[in-house]
Amino acid sequence: MPDATAEQKQFKFKVVLLGEGCVGKSSLVLRFVENKFSSRHLSTIQASFQSKTVHIDDCKAELHIWDTAGQEKYHALGPIYYRGSNGVLLVFDITDRRSFEKVKNWVLEIKTCLGKTAEILIVGNKIDLEDERQVSRQDAEVYAETEGALYMETSAQENMGISDAFEALTSKMIDHARTNTT
Ligand code: GDP
Repeated sequence: MPDATAEQKQFKFKVVLLGEGCVGKSSLVLRFVENKFSSRHLSTIQASFQSKTVHIDDCKAELHIWDTAGQEKYHALGPIYYRGSNGVLLVFDITDRRSFEKVKNWVLEIKTCLGKTAEILIVGNKIDLEDERQVSRQDAEVYAETEGALYMETSAQENMGISDAFEALTSKMIDHARTNTT
């Protein structure tokens, strides 16, 4: 007899990467999807769309991950980029205070383009460069809380916190999807 409790719940989510140029968005995706890292700036060479399946408890979520491919520098992210997004990974570089200050502008843009339809995870990347840190974890956590977002820290270079970040965002998207279908 099939075990009803073993039946998986399946989801498909669109996740968009946002944040200033050079904070490590493409590197996070490359590490998460292919477990690779490059010291080169990737935005212009990286494919702008990748998929990966994440398993959480009894759920299977297929993530369609959209990267900016460098277009954020030209303010050229059009409505197609945002449309239908379930989650946002909003990245800054912990060694670059300016990239954190700009997170506020990105949050405004997300709220304008997506309203409350998408879950936001703010990511402080490059924690392997702790000696050069310009943004404290506490400042970032307090800010994220005021925006109803999660905050996590990563290093694409050292493969720290990346699966945790994508899994935390996936959990939030699953909760969101369930809340909005019941
Ligand atoms: P994007 O423009 O936001 O997509 O940034 P990239 O992924 O192209 O990364 C910009 C630069 O930062 C590249 O030289 C990467 O090698 C470097 N980088 C990305 N993540 C990390 C990290 O976690 N630690 C360090 N030290 N460098 C990183």
